[in-house]
Amino acid sequence: MSENYDLHCHSTASDGALSPTEVVQRAHEHGVTSLALTDHDTTTGLSEAQAAAAATGIQLIPGIELSTSWQNKCLHIVGLGINPEHPQLAEATRNLHLMRIERAEKMADKLEKKRIPGALEAVKKAAGDGMITRTHFADFLLSQNHVSTQQEAFDRYLGDGKPAYVSASWTDMIQGINWIAEAGGIAVLAHPSRYKLTASWMKRLLTAFKEAGGQGIEVITGRTNADEIRLMAGYATRFELAGSVGSDFHSPANQWVELGRLAPLPKGIKPVWELLS
Ligand code: AMP
Ligand code: MN
Ligand code: MN
Ligand code: MN
Repeated sequence: MSENYDLHCHSTASDGALSPTEVVQRAHEHGVTSLALTDHDTTTGLSEAQAAAAATGIQLIPGIELSTSWQNKCLHIVGLGINPEHPQLAEATRNLHLMRIERAEKMADKLEKKRIPGALEAVKKAAGDGMITRTHFADFLLSQNHVSTQQEAFDRYLGDGKPAYVSASWTDMIQGINWIAEAGGIAVLAHPSRYKLTASWMKRLLTAFKEAGGQGIEVITGRTNADEIRLMAGYATRFELAGSVGSDFHSPANQWVELGRLAPLPKGIKPVWELLS
């Protein structure tokens, strides 16, 4: 059987709809042979995913998606092949868990001022022991009919500068790359086309990313088009970064993004999995 990598997805440990076991099983059903579970700022889903992968016969690459900040921008850095028990990373994720609870409290206060009560209880219940994210708020707003799509929830309430937006003190990008490296992982810039950076910002970013020890860039994601793939492959070549492939799957409800449904890496791009031992 040919190898099929999906190196970016989410479970109920953060804002995914499926449990780690369900994510692994669904990945297997969709032909994935190597899966990285990369929940937002947490590794708590990995042990369950590891057990499910062993039972299913697919390879599980332990991962994380760190929310980081660089030059006042929020950038996501995927760590692949990390040791989830590494003390520094483990302490960081515990702090991020608390930080996300405090941020959720502030967001709920802001919604209450907009005469939308009950958000905090709802998002805490939905997130359980996992990370509370804006996705949980979007689902709450949707369930209460304040909006009719997730996108509308971000456009009207949750997006940067909108009434319920609370800026968070995310991990400094350089720090995040260091944590990943110290935990034995490979740092990969997630979904680079989503930041809407100009070419000159992209160059500045990749220079800093590379200098800090970053080694990969997502060339293929669940929703990249041919132009974006060409552009990101160009950056990978120019900055000597390995190319990663990840759907960023969150939920079966999103029909546009599926586990393992990914374009191949363009020829000449070094696959990031060659760096994983
Ligand atoms: P947070 O890390 O709590 O700020 O939440 C960010 C998450 O919200 C992302 O990982 C996405 O899953 C989701 N998200 C961000 N923007 C949008 C959007 N416009 N539509 C739907 N989901 C979004
Ligand atoms: Mn998410
Ligand atoms: Mn992301
Ligand atoms: Mn993601």
